Amino acid sequence: MIRSHNFSAGPSALPIEVLEKVHQELFDFAGTGSSIMEISHRSVLFKNLFEKIESDIRDILDIPENYKVLFLQGGATLQFSQVPMNLLNGKKKADYIHTGLWSGKAIRSASRFCDTHIVASNEMTGFNHIPLQEELNLSSDAAYLHYTENETVQGVQFNYTPNSSVPLVCDASSSLLSKPIELNKHGLVYASAQKNIGISGVTIVIINEDLFNMAPNSTPEILNYTSLAKANSLINTPATFPLYITGLMLDWLISQGGIAEVHHRNKQKAGLLYDTISSSGGFYKNNVID
Ligand SMILES: *Cc1c(COP(=O)(O)O)cnc(C)c1O
Repeated sequence: MIRSHNFSAGPSALPIEVLEKVHQELFDFAGTGSSIMEISHRSVLFKNLFEKIESDIRDILDIPENYKVLFLQGGATLQFSQVPMNLLNGKKKADYIHTGLWSGKAIRSASRFCDTHIVASNEMTGFNHIPLQEELNLSSDAAYLHYTENETVQGVQFNYTPNSSVPLVCDASSSLLSKPIELNKHGLVYASAQKNIGISGVTIVIINEDLFNMAPNSTPEILNYTSLAKANSLINTPATFPLYITGLMLDWLISQGGIAEVHHRNKQKAGLLYDTISSSGGFYKNNVID
């Protein structure tokens, strides 16, 4: 068998060790005589798996005690709406940094719920760089500041964590678990799994407990961070198979040396790519400026 290379951001390739483990356990997970897809999400076995996933991700990312980790569905795309549905707290405005396609989608979704104030945009220059902190025209009456840590399509990434007096919200879909993150500077970080953390079907939300109890009563329970946290993300049946894959990805990441080692390898890979572009004598072109 020849495995092909897949350079797509997501769904992306999984480590062969992860695929082999799935293959091994597909007909008999932990001696149950069933696959993980066929057992109850309320069973002790699944509960243990779920708890291990949370404790592994807490270890890997060094998540502070006062942050909850939620495992949700609907992708990062649902978070574009779920964030304003939960965090406006009676305010009418939210700040957004417009750096490319994904932050643009987040802004369009949030516009249904509040005024979206664009604190900086690089649209005029084709989204070819990230604005500096000094260039952010922040408002003091915003409910939160939203940014997209890595613009997966345009290829621009923040090399600093924005400072703001209001809670900072981060779409880290294509960067969570690829490098360390300063969680204590954030109110909420979300990421869908299919880029770095497994397969599609799971969205990870890491939220500071200070942001609970802000959603209006009309918010459906299944979209309310506070209700979801109280139910340990189990208001309804979670995406059991994608969660299982996330668990295997975390095992793999730990076995490779954790986030520091993965970050090191990612810098090497990026270096290889950018060196090839710049030494191609103009054959390849990089639109991104530092
Ligand atoms: C892929 C991606 C999304 C969309 O994720 P879905 O799971 O398809 O909703 C959002 N933001 C960023 C930065 C992404 O890379």
